[in-house]
Amino acid sequence: MIPGEFEYHAPKSVPDALALLKQFGDASKLLAGGHSLLPMMKMRFAQPAHLIDLGKIAELKGIREDGGTLRIGAMTTENELIWSKLLQDKCPLLVEGARLISDPQVRYKGTIGGDIAHGDPGNDHPALMLALSASFLLRSAAGERVVPADGFFVGTYDTLMKAEEIMTEIRIPVPAAGAGYSYCKLKRKVGDFATAAAAVMLRMNGEAVKEIAIALTNVAATPLKARAAEDSLRGKPLTDAAIAAAANLAMSICDPAVDQRGDAEYKTAMAGEMTQRALRMAQSRAKG
Ligand SMILES: Cc1cc2nc3c(=O)[nH]c(=O)nc-3n(C[C@H](O)[C@H](O)[C@H](O)COP(=O)(O)OP(=O)(O)OC[C@H]3O[C@@H](n4cnc5c(N)ncnc54)[C@H](O)[C@@H]3O)c2cc1C
Repeated sequence: MIPGEFEYHAPKSVPDALALLKQFGDASKLLAGGHSLLPMMKMRFAQPAHLIDLGKIAELKGIREDGGTLRIGAMTTENELIWSKLLQDKCPLLVEGARLISDPQVRYKGTIGGDIAHGDPGNDHPALMLALSASFLLRSAAGERVVPADGFFVGTYDTLMKAEEIMTEIRIPVPAAGAGYSYCKLKRKVGDFATAAAAVMLRMNGEAVKEIAIALTNVAATPLKARAAEDSLRGKPLTDAAIAAAANLAMSICDPAVDQRGDAEYKTAMAGEMTQRALRMAQSRAKG
């Protein structure tokens, strides 16, 4: 399939990109890694007259720690996340999640910002962002704002981001040392999106759960924060029965779309299974 005609722009700074966005408005689209946008253009679901490539803007790349916060440029690729020593040490959940995204071709070009901004419920970063209490820096010609991941995803391909905004940075509070983590993803084959997946962050206080975050991928129009499941575990020992009960609560909020990966009942059951596995893995990794 061949996309429609478009004019290509390659700004070298965020203000230049914002000026182009303002100039061309709805006729334009931002281009990051292109692994979601280009297929849509080839199928003519998206037909922008202007493509604004963010790839030449150096300030949108990189991973650093700043006063207890990890700051990740939106154009940082999955591969760069995976090989970041800082993330391996301080935020291994993100590394584990990025490793499970698609295949090497996609991971070399696909970016964390594009994965989040696209608003695809099948994408993995949205649930990871919920589990990590991340927030997003959005810039427009009018200024900037920081929006928490929790509440950012409002529907399939729909987020709180406005057309005139660029996501420039992802901010993640550095997880406490000794926090347990896990991303468990069921996929039919290498390179596929999740049939269902669960992200868990966990802190233990002896035998009891001190802090817990559970988020689910691809079992509703948006990623889901499994709040009732989290509440059921907080302050309690992480027994088999407690894990099974939490998984049931997580399943109770699932409303997956039916597709070639399975029907709603199967996908919901797999969300429960992924939740149980992620909880057990996070428990085994937690220290303290
Ligand atoms: C075969 C295949 C399998 C895949 N499997 C998975 C998977 O298992 N898990 C997964 O998570 N993803 C998967 N993906 C999607 C992939 O990770 C994409 O790279 C990702 O969804 C989009 O990132 P991108 O950098 O390619 O963005 P693009 O495709 O360039 O852009 C996507 C959308 O986001 C907008 N956008 C991009 N960057 C910004 C920004 N900084 N600010 C504002 N808007 C922006 C664009 O305008 C566009 O609308 C798969 C893709 C393919 C082709």
